[in-house]
Amino acid sequence: MARCSVCGRPAVYVSRIGGFALCERHFDEYFMKKLRRTIRKYRLFRSRERIAVAVSGGKDSLALLHALHRLRRSAPGWEVAALHVDEGIRGYREYSRRRLERVASELGVELHVISFREELGYTLDEIVKLGAERGLKYKPCTYCGVFRRYLMNIAARRMGATVVATAHNLDDIVQTFLLNVIGNDWVKVSRLGPVSGPARHPRFVRKVKPFYEHLEKETTLYAVLHGLYTGFEECPYARLSPRWQVRRMINQLDEAYPGTKHSLLNSLLSALEILEKAGVAGREDLYSCAICGEPSAHPVCRACLLRLELGIMELPREKLEALPEEARRMVLAALRRSEPRRRGGGDAMNAHQGGATGSG
Ligand SMILES: [Zn+2]
Ligand SMILES: [Zn+2]
Repeated sequence: MARCSVCGRPAVYVSRIGGFALCERHFDEYFMKKLRRTIRKYRLFRSRERIAVAVSGGKDSLALLHALHRLRRSAPGWEVAALHVDEGIRGYREYSRRRLERVASELGVELHVISFREELGYTLDEIVKLGAERGLKYKPCTYCGVFRRYLMNIAARRMGATVVATAHNLDDIVQTFLLNVIGNDWVKVSRLGPVSGPARHPRFVRKVKPFYEHLEKETTLYAVLHGLYTGFEECPYARLSPRWQVRRMINQLDEAYPGTKHSLLNSLLSALEILEKAGVAGREDLYSCAICGEPSAHPVCRACLLRLELGIMELPREKLEALPEEARRMVLAALRRSEPRRRGGGDAMNAHQGGATGSG
């Protein structure tokens, strides 16, 4: 059995690239030290912040809530609260939500919840079904990701948060990096830094990733050691995502060549620097969505476009005609992508749909 490199007690953690092992107590110290270092290195927080920790109820997000809540004791200007987006995934979300409520009350942190059902009118399960009925080609993770980010920003603003901390760990980040490299999407790569923003938009709440340098095995172990992890958890839609395979591939590579994950993170940091110099990355000026007014990288935000495609948002003809040229073009293209089943009303959306497609 491995022994702690510091004190010689039985080890719970072994770092193959670092060549050291740690007992429970020294792993905890190592974990918190790394967290403080990441926060300092990337200047994630200012001295006064109201931090909304985005919590799914999964192990990583509970670990982040727990760890930031501990750090707050030495940072009197920080307030830590939890923010949960309820997507409505049957059999998966109910369970993690209960666990989240328990942890939040044990720590004594406020818990704010925003739900797909209340804000969009439909749960993710219903949206996935609607999309399939309309012949839309999106994966469940697309709807989930777009609407979750959208609602998270709205909820953060409502609760007066100055910053949102998300629990993306090193593994998540290098997986996304590789997926975007495969997709040749350097604009998306440019958003993978430890801090998103400050985008110049009054409604945008800055997002930070305090676990940027923590491996998933470290966040998982922290969760286990603090009683935050009670069993295997996996979104039922996860296997439908290409991320699943990229994740397995990176894990295999890192197993064969220890340090691969860190090396990918360094490549990402280099890429971010190059992209910033090339003007691809950096402080994006955001649009205000022409329909809902929320911050967006395009004249109409993805959440509005998806709602139009799904047929779950009404856009009266007058409003459509009043949109600026580019925004109207985006809306019409979105409407053409969906093939709504005939419904009773003759609303503007269906009127514009007329003659767009002959299939179905
Ligand atoms: Zn030790
Ligand atoms: Zn919008």
